[in-house]
Amino acid sequence: MNAIQLEAYIRDIPNFPKEGILFKDITPLLADPQAFGAVIDQMAAQYEGKGIDVIVAAEARGFIFAAPLALKLGVGFVPVRKPGKLPFDTHSFEYELEYGTDTLEIHIDGVSAGQNVLLVDDLLATGGTIKACANLVEKIGATVAGCCFLIELGFLDGAAKVAPHECFSLIKY
Ligand code: AMP
Repeated sequence: MNAIQLEAYIRDIPNFPKEGILFKDITPLLADPQAFGAVIDQMAAQYEGKGIDVIVAAEARGFIFAAPLALKLGVGFVPVRKPGKLPFDTHSFEYELEYGTDTLEIHIDGVSAGQNVLLVDDLLATGGTIKACANLVEKIGATVAGCCFLIELGFLDGAAKVAPHECFSLIKY
């Protein structure tokens, strides 16, 4: 079978959600089981045998890739959410935005100290979101084993912000 050109399933939406942003719409890829399956297979190939204990992802689009990847790797999936969304006791982590701060939460029994955690999101832009997730995981005493994305906007240099954690992406712009 020929390799699937994943880029062909990403739709550019200019000026969404605001003027000047070129939004990478992944919904055509999600609608195609061959392309979506190829993404999960390629992500799993990168991390099989690497000792990942658990996958952590932030809402909402991170969940879409994290859950099937966790099943494929045979590990658990733990969600990170905006405040007030998780039903059980949580650890909270406040992080800096360009203007102001934001908070992310994770259940206190989601990740344990010493575990090897793989972070997953659909897209790496400035790196702020994944860096906040990495800080949250490290605050718990777990280790960030890597950060996995479908798409990386290389020109925003998010990987530098996330360093020394390793970033892996299937599509780079
Ligand atoms: P950042 O924290 O700047 O790395 O932004 C990453 C998060 O914002 C991801 O969860 C993406 O879903 C979303 N995001 C940022 N920029 C874009 C874009 N150009 N197209 C689609 N999603 C984006």
